[in-house]
Amino acid sequence: MAGIVFEQVTKQYENGFEAVKNFNLEIGEQEFLVLVGPSGCGKTTSLRMLAGLESISTGNIYINDKRVNDVASKDRDIAMVFQSYALYPHMTVFENMAFSLDLQGVSKAEQKERVQKTATQLGIEALLDRKPKQLSGGQRQRVAVGRAIIRDPAVFLMDEPLSNLDAKLRGQARTELSDLQTKLGTTFVYVTHDQVEAMTMGTRIAVMNQGILQQVDTPQTLYERPNNMFVAGFLGSPSMNFLKAKLTAEQGQLWVVNQAVKLPLPPQLQAKYQQYQGMEVIFGLRPEHIALSAAGDSATDVAAQVSALEMMGHEAMVYFTLSDGQNCIARVPPQLQLVPGDNFTAYFDMNYCHLFDLDSEHVL
Ligand code: ATP
Repeated sequence: MAGIVFEQVTKQYENGFEAVKNFNLEIGEQEFLVLVGPSGCGKTTSLRMLAGLESISTGNIYINDKRVNDVASKDRDIAMVFQSYALYPHMTVFENMAFSLDLQGVSKAEQKERVQKTATQLGIEALLDRKPKQLSGGQRQRVAVGRAIIRDPAVFLMDEPLSNLDAKLRGQARTELSDLQTKLGTTFVYVTHDQVEAMTMGTRIAVMNQGILQQVDTPQTLYERPNNMFVAGFLGSPSMNFLKAKLTAEQGQLWVVNQAVKLPLPPQLQAKYQQYQGMEVIFGLRPEHIALSAAGDSATDVAAQVSALEMMGHEAMVYFTLSDGQNCIARVPPQLQLVPGDNFTAYFDMNYCHLFDLDSEHVL
């Protein structure tokens, strides 16, 4: 049984702008689903429609098999954690956490017990008497999560809850939230524009762009087998390299060819792409699948010139140009003898190549 279903959901704002277009998505019970995409792609709008904070223009949303289009937000059995945390500033941490229980008419004794239990779970017992302004960003984030989980809802909705934290805290909070979801066994729908959060936290990731759902799958599958250039380019840092090229047949096999490269497709891909022979394509290769070649005599070697270097300690990014002026990036081990301006030979590992249709940008 799916925990949440979006069925052909569309959102058109009053000014006519269509922020979410024909959105179909099933989210399993106990799933950690991350909705990711660039700013303005419609993630928050989708989450707000699920939360009942925004009306649905067309289509249906179901939570645990119940159609909720016309169900008020407070009756949807959801809890939401916002980017701003939206804590009540005049209340203590205890009062913030107990507030929803109070509204439900839960007895004072039970409120106390549940706040204590949740606070212990999140390591914020010592903060219960403080007001939000007396807390650090990380502590506020925990209180906001505590306020959500104390209600024991069927679904948690989170909108960029870690974006106000510094990088180190964010890493720690990512792990804590993942662990919490496993412990609670509740459906999480988590919105972020941060691909690292998406890749590390989601059991599945739904990638959106311009109001349209692009692909839904596990992080690994999305990374290894993106459906289109948008998904391929969005996940991975630095982004996948894209080169315009042609698929040509020569010496009984297929090659990816342009003015700067002539690369044979590996044997296992020959049959698959035979039908596209003669076509203009976009050839994609991730930076980690380009190496610096010593010999310079392999068929997959490419003449290159360093334009810039980025030393990261444990690895290095080599920005380089090909003989036709196209730019590429290689992610390589940090022991480099290169400086900008140097010519070198790049090895393209064609076992990991992606080919996309030039017009539709869909994978071939
Ligand atoms: P971000 O990461 O920046 O929050 P998002 O993916 O969450 O972006 P949404 O907030 O869902 O994006 O907005 C989607 C699109 O809808 C944006 O182009 C936004 O400008 C537009 N939009 C949002 N609210 C309204 C509104 N009330 N009226 C008209 N357009 C809106």
